[in-house]
Amino acid sequence: MLIFICKRKIKYILILTIFIVGGFLTQMGPLYYQQIKTVTASGKIIIVIDAGHGGRDPGAVAGDVYEKNINLDIAKRLEKLLKQKGYRVIMTRTKDVNLVNWKDNGSYQRASLWQRAQLSKEKNAKLLISIHCNSDRNKVFYGPQTFYHPQSNSGKRLAQSIQEELIQVRDTRRQAIPGDYYLLNNTSCITVIVELGYLSNVKDRSMLCLPDYQQKFAQAITRGISKVN
Ligand SMILES: [Zn+2]
Repeated sequence: MLIFICKRKIKYILILTIFIVGGFLTQMGPLYYQQIKTVTASGKIIIVIDAGHGGRDPGAVAGDVYEKNINLDIAKRLEKLLKQKGYRVIMTRTKDVNLVNWKDNGSYQRASLWQRAQLSKEKNAKLLISIHCNSDRNKVFYGPQTFYHPQSNSGKRLAQSIQEELIQVRDTRRQAIPGDYYLLNNTSCITVIVELGYLSNVKDRSMLCLPDYQQKFAQAITRGISKVN
């Protein structure tokens, strides 16, 4: 009798467990699927735009020109243009702010890069476009250049496509090249770093500060993205 009750109880517990787990999987299944998709439910490709630096980290500085501000201006223009093209756009920052208040290996900058890579993972982005301006002691260096992970064919294709469009705005012999940078090495989506030009070069700097040219650079990146996505 005792054994009979236990067996019945076990049967009930088993049935109950199947219902609970089954119901849980039915609920979680589509959710999990959504998490690994790099498009929204309505089919929009998810793009994270990263305005490089920000807050305590100005990036390259040339007189009163701060890289972080130019990156943000162009990132915002790019956001608008990509949204018009039908992409879902997520910005790593929309203001001049510190993205983190903690250090990774003693560095705010490294922690901030971790945060940017993390956002692209959380949002299941298909693409991460990180906007920067270059600088060099040699003031002759000029022109935009894009970087991709050496093992990413999709990254290479996207970087080349953006590079082709950027040189229509500021002509240069520079080409898309593989790079060994934190963001390229620590994201799981297609990532391209766009260096728009050299703030240390007089002509590049004046172009990058002009709203008309900022718009042209943003349009060029948009064309570069939409040609291959
Ligand atoms: Zn930078």
